[in-house]
Formats: sequence, structure tokens, C-alpha cells
Amino acid sequence: MDDKHVESDLARVLITEDEIQSRIRELAREIEIDYAGRDILVVGVLKGAVMVMADLARSLDRHVAMDWMAISSYGSGTASSGVVRILKDLDTDIMGRHVLIAEDIIDTGLTLSWLVANLQSRGPASVEICALLRKPGAQQMAVDVRYVGFDIPNEFVVGFGLDYAERYRNLRSIATLAPHVYT
Ligand code: IMP
Repeated sequence: MDDKHVESDLARVLITEDEIQSRIRELAREIEIDYAGRDILVVGVLKGAVMVMADLARSLDRHVAMDWMAISSYGSGTASSGVVRILKDLDTDIMGRHVLIAEDIIDTGLTLSWLVANLQSRGPASVEICALLRKPGAQQMAVDVRYVGFDIPNEFVVGFGLDYAERYRNLRSIATLAPHVYT
């Protein structure tokens, strides 16, 4: 979905589709260099990372395996609770594997720090994170994110996999919502 179809719902487009796509291609080139000669298992965190995973994986000019986890950090609101539950676990045994987590956004960092610890306990060769967006002011946890697409202000954003009450995930750009949407 293009911005014009939900123009009245959006306050501001922060990152356009073209900017997202070219940044993902840059990250893919970095990842290819860093992982030369090593297999990669990209783990996507449902549902937000679906678009990042699809575009990052297709930008990588090499073989990658893909798997998915579903975890819940919070429901349809806009504030992180720090409570994490596994809704769907990996199908893959990651023992000895190089795991690259593909994430949409790191906000407080609570979700990712929990996920990294959980995956580390399974004996992988390495665990790294690629997050399309990072809100720097909001980090409560020191999470080492190796690949970051964009640093954004501490505002609630939607699009490119990110939702508000399950809407706007299919928006091609990243945008903030107009106040009337929340009320
Ligand atoms: P954290 O645990 O606070 O880092 O939150 C991570 C998760 O919260 C992300 O994977 C998103 O699902 C969700 N989230 C955080 N910030 C936003 C936002 O601005 N828009 C939509 N979802 C968000």
C-alpha cells in the first residue's frame, strides 16, 4: 500500500520506500562480507519482521536459511511491557549455527535482549541482530545491534511490517500516525 491510500491517517512519512530499499541493499552487502565462508540462518520475528526478512533475504546474493519465531511483547497498545512469551518457536536446531536475527524495530530493547539470551542458551556459533529501525533514546537494555538501518526519533511508527492494532503493516514506507487514529 502506498502512502496516498492512507494519507489522512499519517502525520509524517519518516522513511520512503526507496530509502528503505537502498538501505537494506547496503546492509546486505555488509552482511555478505562479514559472513563470507559461513552459513547464515536468518531468524525473523513475527509478525513485524516479515517485510525486513523478505527484502533482506532477497538482497543477499548468496544462500541463506530462514526460520521464524513468534513472540509477544505487548498487545495492541503503544508501550512496551517487557513481558515476553514464545508463541511459535524455531523449527531449526541452532546448535553450532550462525544466527542473524532480522527485526523491524528496537524500541526499549527488552524484546531483543530476551530473545538473544534465549537463543544463546541453545548453543549457536554466533547470534547477531539486524534491525531496520532503532529508537536510541528509549533503550532500557544494552543490546548490541550489529546492523541498524535507521535511527529514528522516539515516536510510534507504522509501516513496512509495523502495525497499529494490526493495521498499516502493508504500508511501503515508515510513517507516524495522525492523532485522530489513536482516538
Ligand atoms: P521493545 O521490546 O520495546 O524493543 O519493542 C520491540 C517490539 O515492539 C517491536 O518488535 C515491535 O513489534 C513493537 N514496537 C516498538 N516500537 C514500535 C513502533 O513504533 N511501532 C510499532 N511497533 C513497535
